[in-house]
Amino acid sequence: MNKIPMTTPLVEMDGDEMTRILWKKIKDTLILPYVDLKTEYYDLGLPHRDETNDQVTIDAAEATRKYGVAVKCATITPNQQRMEEYNLHEMWKSPNGTIRAMLDGTVFRTPIVIDAISPAVRSWKAPITIARHAYGDVYKNVEIRTDEGGTCELVFTGDSGNVIRKTVQKLEGPGIFQGIHNKDASIRSYAHAVFSYALDTKQDVWFGAKDTISKTYDGAFREIMAEVFEEYKERFEKAGISYFYTLIDDAVARVMRSEGGFIWACKNYDGDVMSDMVATAFGSLAMMTSVLVSPDGIYEYEASHGTVTRHYYRYLKGEQTSTNPMATIFAWTGALKKRGELDQIPELTAFGSKLEQACLNVLEQGIMTKDLVLLADPAKVKREVLTDDFLEAIREEFEKN
Ligand code: NAP
Ligand code: MG
Repeated sequence: MNKIPMTTPLVEMDGDEMTRILWKKIKDTLILPYVDLKTEYYDLGLPHRDETNDQVTIDAAEATRKYGVAVKCATITPNQQRMEEYNLHEMWKSPNGTIRAMLDGTVFRTPIVIDAISPAVRSWKAPITIARHAYGDVYKNVEIRTDEGGTCELVFTGDSGNVIRKTVQKLEGPGIFQGIHNKDASIRSYAHAVFSYALDTKQDVWFGAKDTISKTYDGAFREIMAEVFEEYKERFEKAGISYFYTLIDDAVARVMRSEGGFIWACKNYDGDVMSDMVATAFGSLAMMTSVLVSPDGIYEYEASHGTVTRHYYRYLKGEQTSTNPMATIFAWTGALKKRGELDQIPELTAFGSKLEQACLNVLEQGIMTKDLVLLADPAKVKREVLTDDFLEAIREEFEKN
């Protein structure tokens, strides 16, 4: 059989623990037999990040800039315990954080929906994609707690020397204060990423903030989104999709009675909280895809779960595990489809879609990993399988069609 050719390499970022094991199995079973795979390989596994003083993460992000499409395996973000476990030189920063900052990207997370698992919200029929603005607000805050009364002021000193001073509050006794910020440029590039992704995936965009209360801060989000949308308006009309702004509380209420099938653009904190709600209500973290999109059209695909440490420790003891590879497979298919689209290799795009369909078919046949068996309608479960058997079932299904 002739393998599907590629022209531009994919940036391949390998990772850690159980997902590193899955990574190789997925490539060997589902991709290499069919695609003449071209990748530029970066080993983001923690030992190699440590050896290279994390330079490999920076190199991988730069390669992603150069080639435009990357696929990333889950990686460990070290903490104190990992420092000891891996005997690290330094507590390296989250690779995802580094890459996101370098690409100035927005993360879109979409659940993979199957019949056998009903969303906890009855009205939801199609996946809801959360687009989280990932800069500033409470994540880059400055806080004060005092044990006495006093006055807190907000002072801005412009580069021109112009000073703006406002009293936050005069307190009689102990209290707390918080200063947060955002940048017009960051909100603007977020808006571009959201609207481009909406056109790419032909979905409506909802955006909610609290501009009735936060007239200036949240008001700026609303204004900048609306201003950037003007550049997309015609293309949205042609594509038959829409952008709509509403208050965040109204957005939450509408989401709960919607049928899904749209992009929910969220401010940083709302996105943090709501993505956990949406993921849980749709079923499982192992069924959640994630793509980082930069405003200049660079794509990095990954799974949204971590390295599944507990399964890895069992694997190291020689035990077989029932780890769900769906999100990692969809990261590969997402990247290959995008590469096919950009390089005009329709066979490559078709391959990605066909492999995704084979995965969904296997699940619809009731062949599932353990995590899904626990969530699915028992009447729709035929067989609980180990990872290797699941991948083999997908390969057989793929070969049938
Ligand atoms: P996790 O790896 O997502 O795992 C949490 C639990 O969720 C697992 O123990 C497992 O439950 C279940 N689970 C997650 N993915 C699964 C899958 N594919 N198949 C079956 N079950 C799955 O999160 P974590 O334990 O908080 O983090 C582990 C490491 O991952 C950390 O070092 C963290 O830094 C890293 N991390 C990386 C990323 C990333 O690179 N994108 C994201 C998050 C975390 P059971 O054990 O009960 O089966
Ligand atoms: Mg969260």
